[in-house]
Amino acid sequence: MRGTHDEPVSGAGAPPAREPASRTATNGSGPPTAWPTSRAGKPTGPGADEGCPFCRAPGLPDEEGLVVARGRSAFVVLNLYPYNSGHLLVCPYRHVSEYTSLDATETAEVASLTQAGIRALTEAYGPAGFNVGMNLGTVAGAGIAAHLHQHVVPRWGGDTNFMPVIGQTRVLPEMLERTRGRLAELWPRK
Ligand SMILES: [Zn+2]
Repeated sequence: MRGTHDEPVSGAGAPPAREPASRTATNGSGPPTAWPTSRAGKPTGPGADEGCPFCRAPGLPDEEGLVVARGRSAFVVLNLYPYNSGHLLVCPYRHVSEYTSLDATETAEVASLTQAGIRALTEAYGPAGFNVGMNLGTVAGAGIAAHLHQHVVPRWGGDTNFMPVIGQTRVLPEMLERTRGRLAELWPRK
């Protein structure tokens, strides 16, 4: 599942980013999640697609799938090809491409996980700002258009200077796992 791409959050000043990857994430928000990790490696969620990294990640242990947090209808995973350190992707478990296809619960949880991600990133790295958004459709820059995902990219002043380098460089798995562990530890407890 590693090796997927996605383009950056588009739009003015948007960062080029690529996509991801995702443990038993106890997000401390209460009861066990609806999408357990027992079927390790198997796609999860309604309409799951074998070849979709966002369907497979939740089925893997957190460390392996780089999952930072798990909600009931959506989860958070680190981008395998981050624009910046801590680049998160918030995805519904359902394999859907249209934002308008999300139900009220999914819509609310994608939003709340985005907020939690911003809080955890702020706590962990203290970025100067964030780019948050979705690329809907391949033409809009989505690398994995079939399964929508919201980018949460921490930004620092001057980070565009090394963007081209970072954008083309694959981050070492150990670095991603360290980042994942830190963010999971700092994930807001409700
Ligand atoms: Zn999918």
